[in-house]
Amino acid sequence: MLKKAKDLLKHYFGYDSFRHGQEEIISHILSKEDCLAIMPTGAGKSICYQIPALVFEGTTIVISPLISLMKDQVDSLMQNGIMATYINSTLSTEDYYQAMENARLGVYKIIYVAPERLNSDNFVNLLNQINISMFAIDEAHCVSQWGHDFRPSYTEIANIILNLKTRPVVTAFTATATEIVKKDIINLLHLNNSFTLTTGFDRPNLSFSVEIPSDKKKYVFDFLEKHPNESGIIYCLSRKNTDSLYEALLENGFSVSKYHGGMSDSARNKNQNDFIFDKTNIMVATNAFGMGIDKSNIRFVVHYNMPKDLESYYQEAGRSGRDGAKAECVLLYNRSDIVSNKFLIEQTVSNNPSAIEYQKLNDIVDYCNTDKCLRKYILEYFGEETDYEECGNCSNCNSEIESTNITIDAKKILSCIKRMHERFGLSMVTDVLKGANTAKIKSFKFEQLSTYGIMSEYSKETIKEIISFLVSEGYINCIGDKYPILTLTPSCNDILFGDEEIFIKRKIEKAKEKRSSSSNNAVNVEYNHELFAILSDVRRNIAQELNVPPFIVFADTSLIQMCIIYPTSLNELDLISGVGKYKADNYGKYFINEIQKFVKEHNIEKTSINIEEFSKKTKAIKKVASSSDLSNEEKPKKEDTKTTTYNLYVSGKTIQEIANLRGVKTRTIEEHLISCYAARNGY
Ligand code: ADP
Ligand code: ZN
Repeated sequence: MLKKAKDLLKHYFGYDSFRHGQEEIISHILSKEDCLAIMPTGAGKSICYQIPALVFEGTTIVISPLISLMKDQVDSLMQNGIMATYINSTLSTEDYYQAMENARLGVYKIIYVAPERLNSDNFVNLLNQINISMFAIDEAHCVSQWGHDFRPSYTEIANIILNLKTRPVVTAFTATATEIVKKDIINLLHLNNSFTLTTGFDRPNLSFSVEIPSDKKKYVFDFLEKHPNESGIIYCLSRKNTDSLYEALLENGFSVSKYHGGMSDSARNKNQNDFIFDKTNIMVATNAFGMGIDKSNIRFVVHYNMPKDLESYYQEAGRSGRDGAKAECVLLYNRSDIVSNKFLIEQTVSNNPSAIEYQKLNDIVDYCNTDKCLRKYILEYFGEETDYEECGNCSNCNSEIESTNITIDAKKILSCIKRMHERFGLSMVTDVLKGANTAKIKSFKFEQLSTYGIMSEYSKETIKEIISFLVSEGYINCIGDKYPILTLTPSCNDILFGDEEIFIKRKIEKAKEKRSSSSNNAVNVEYNHELFAILSDVRRNIAQELNVPPFIVFADTSLIQMCIIYPTSLNELDLISGVGKYKADNYGKYFINEIQKFVKEHNIEKTSINIEEFSKKTKAIKKVASSSDLSNEEKPKKEDTKTTTYNLYVSGKTIQEIANLRGVKTRTIEEHLISCYAARNGY
């Protein structure tokens, strides 16, 4: 059975092997056991029920709470040549009857429905007329009142299943794993002697960093310059921030959309679609954006402000890298974000914020300030143990802390606040220190103060950063809600009149050779970016033709692999992860054509990987030859071949897949990888 499952995985989805957890859960489902699978976003939960659905006779019913995602799921299946549909309120009457009729005839392997649909007599009748192989319940935490998005209609699911003539296998999937939710899912869905699998929360392909830039806007501009043609989200805390950052990016020629609660529905929909369909690269948004988005090729999520807690942070940042390719999560921290968040808590939590909200805020502030491994911090926050000290793929593991003595700056700031009689806020104090020439300053005659312009060599952001630091260290009070003013606390006397010194910690990037290498994703995968841009265009055009988002045509991972091994025939294309039979037949040729042209124009020799060779070997003979079989001329340069192996590995291929692909033993591939790590990490 598992052999069949693997064949189907390759044939329909173009994947050579199951990911961690998938094989185990699938084999339990195939032996008709009820299952609960708890896997993080992007781990590949859908495959866990889609493959059994293909193996089983009959139709699988998938319950999913998000109507907006059903269409993508179905489009995605159809693009892989699998008959599927959704039945929900967005269908026209005609389409609805057509879908119901097809369902009755057993046309579909998989049908997606919202839980509310189970209340419809028509639909329940249908369920009793067809052969149902499985009920798969996606986002199963919705059944629990303790989950974060409880849906009353989820509690009806068990009843409906109970009333079916024959009980199908019941499987449940979620990324939420608290004990109480887990128990609720098993009890409320009446899972029978179910098998439970928890894979853990880590997302190894995501890198995490916290940055404390003195000028956030400049940081974002620089970051975006370094990530051309990549799709990413920038989250801001407020609508105002969103608008102004959006305007600034637009003015500077970036391909950008925006999204927040203050916009009309139609504007929001349009912008969301532009982003999902890769018409724009960057989405600047408040946290109103992202729910129900399954765009798989989001390469970065930058938080312009610190969000209110780590739950929100991990969820929002986790929208990147669903395809398994490398993605970056950057949090731009400024101590004034603490103030904004406190303000938001007090505004939104029904007049009476609980201690929990503040505790959670403290926890994320600690995350921003820790010098330990960020990944470890997050995982332990969610109750998961880690067996390493450094992941090698976060800004703390990859940087050193630089400590700067700011005693003199602190003295300047404190005496300036004093000379302004402790009656002004952050902006005004900053303006005076900077020496700004504003009407307001003149009206108070502050240009005559001895502290006027005393920090003119700093940017305003830096001055604000130091002031915020002094606030967080308790030297300055920030009083009042709407227009907080800065006042001095008794402890600032130690700086002003005593001999206390004060240091601010900043991170600097570690030199490459000092970086730890415990994570296997610490280094960028190298591929041809020029070709990637060309293939992205091809992908976008096909997507437009088919009226589906580009990531449904091919994931970034597939394009990246194409830009490493340059497949120029259908046989070679078949070696790319994510290229199933249907896609290869339908639009493989468009990609091959472009790659052929590119290879020719750029005189690219495909020597480092002899595609014909390994293709023949893996397909016809399946005999694994060792690399010494290659004759001398064919033998690629040692370093090249290792690098190619390495890049394939980082792009998401398993050791076994690369061994098959290259027609060598797994041992050889392992040796390549080990020597690459050693070379890259200076051993
Ligand atoms: P989840 O529902 O757990 O968030 P998805 O089911 O959307 O994750 O899968 C995330 C991505 O991983 C999709 O692009 C999917 O095609 C891909 N994927 C799933 N299983 C595999 C696999 N075995 N090999 C390669 N890619 C996979
Ligand atoms: Zn780390």
